[in-house]
Amino acid sequence: MKFALLSQRSYLYTTKRLVEAATSRGHKVRIINPLECYMNIASGKPEIHYRGENLTGFDAVIPRIGASITFYGTAVVRQFEMMGVYCLNESVPISRSRDKLRCLQLLSKGGIGMPVTAFAHSTRYTDDLIDMVGGAPLVVKILEGTQGIGVVLAETRKAAKSVVEAFRGVKANILVQEYIAESEGSDIRCLVIGDRVVASMMRRGSEGDFRSNLHRGGSAVKIEISDEEREAAVKAVRIVGLNVAGVDLLRSSRGPAVIEVNSSPGLEGIEQVSRRNIAKDIIQFIEENARPGHTKEIGT
Ligand code: ADP
Ligand code: GLU
Repeated sequence: MKFALLSQRSYLYTTKRLVEAATSRGHKVRIINPLECYMNIASGKPEIHYRGENLTGFDAVIPRIGASITFYGTAVVRQFEMMGVYCLNESVPISRSRDKLRCLQLLSKGGIGMPVTAFAHSTRYTDDLIDMVGGAPLVVKILEGTQGIGVVLAETRKAAKSVVEAFRGVKANILVQEYIAESEGSDIRCLVIGDRVVASMMRRGSEGDFRSNLHRGGSAVKIEISDEEREAAVKAVRIVGLNVAGVDLLRSSRGPAVIEVNSSPGLEGIEQVSRRNIAKDIIQFIEENARPGHTKEIGT
């Protein structure tokens, strides 16, 4: 098969691993920087041009769209969908996962466990907003943040109010969330492919940090997850509509609480911890599922 791997940087671990896995299974892979694609959307025959060339003949697209280029990146994925090329993760589900509010609203509608979460535009009713999630301590998150940046633990109501006002003062969109203290600074990343969790790890924040992101100096160990956690992770991915995703959940006293569904999960930490060739699992999934014109939502 011939794959287009949409990635801005060919030297990234996950990009390299996917190229290796595909090549070793006899496929051809081309790395395409989505920001250098340009498209004719007006004609009845959708096309993508890349560095002066018309892109044709691909059997599947593997999007690795960075959070900072979601807008343009998903437009490129959408154009491939319109051309009938199978996309491992489609444009609409990627957009859903990138908007934390939209994603949590969908998960809540689908009955997925999550921390009590609220959001507001105005700071006039912040006291009531804080009450809605059960008071302090609570977590304030910037909606556009990734890798733990823009996630703050406010231990008191006073601190919570100032953090909310400070973020809103610089026009950041935020949500406030019940602090799940039982998880003790750790979360569980489940790597889901199709309807299976192929690997999972527990991430623990560095000393004194409640955020367990590896990018924030956290460390990870392999972990066995419960059936309930497995079901929550798989169902969350199905609700968002992705085929491959990293689901982050917290172990709360009420059961699994999903905090995020990541449509471009990094493979470095989880392959090392699980000692599993996840890149190969992803390529095999494409081999089994990619068919021309076989897109779920086609840019709707
Ligand atoms: P990002 O998308 O920036 O990674 P997350 O929502 O995943 O933001 O939060 C970063 C980390 O902060 C999580 O991995 C988790 O360890 C911690 N965290 C997030 N939300 C909560 C919460 N409601 N209660 C306790 N810890 C949390
Ligand atoms: N690759 C990062 C992770 O798995 C985040 C990428 C994204 O923002 O989607 O945590």
